[in-house]
Amino acid sequence: MRIILLGAPGSGKGTQSQRLIERCHIPQVSTGDLLRAAVAKGTELGRKAKPIMEAGQLVSDEIMLGVIRDRLSEPDAKRGFVLDGFPRNLAQAHALDELLAQLGQPLDAVVVLEVDSEELVRRISGRRTCRRCDRVFNVFTSPPAPGEKCPQTGGSHELFQRPDDKESTVAERLKVYEEKTRPLVDFYAARGILRKLSAEGDVDSVASRLQSVLKDAMKG
Ligand code: AMP
Repeated sequence: MRIILLGAPGSGKGTQSQRLIERCHIPQVSTGDLLRAAVAKGTELGRKAKPIMEAGQLVSDEIMLGVIRDRLSEPDAKRGFVLDGFPRNLAQAHALDELLAQLGQPLDAVVVLEVDSEELVRRISGRRTCRRCDRVFNVFTSPPAPGEKCPQTGGSHELFQRPDDKESTVAERLKVYEEKTRPLVDFYAARGILRKLSAEGDVDSVASRLQSVLKDAMKG
């Protein structure tokens, strides 16, 4: 299965991708995660991407295409993949088409996760990540369970807020989504592979709705 999860920041792409990969055993390809790992390691890519990410802007298409080409050429992506955070604009969508044609791996479906904007802001402002095990929580809706231990340290999770989840950057990220990324909804709808999904409500119910949408899409 080769799918794209589209949606605004905070719509649950990362969380739902995680659920899918546990069930379908295909890799999640999150360009945001790949960039954050590069920033943490201090690689050249990370040094270039850091200020752009912190400003809520998009990293250049040229850089992102290199990142995605390398990642999709890895052996585990031959089984399929869930793209989370890529493509982010029309130029990236066209380039992805070309790349997937070269790899002989056409997309099965594109699912757009729809969440109202007040809820997006609430979800983003509550998001926290454990700096040790990388698990993502939400202090309002899904905090660590009482007494839960970090699998890396055996102690409590060490939660931090992503720098680009600060209020000042979130407005810019939502604006960039509306201007640059939302047009992809029409782009994939015109191909007949777009599915819309209401992504409000708890993680489990969204996951089961996503499962039925994909089942339907895979039938053709
Ligand atoms: P995300 O985790 O998907 O919200 O991505 C975090 C940040 O990484 C974005 O706000 C962008 O600055 C950058 N980024 C992630 N994916 C892309 C992409 N496909 N194109 C450009 N920038 C990206």
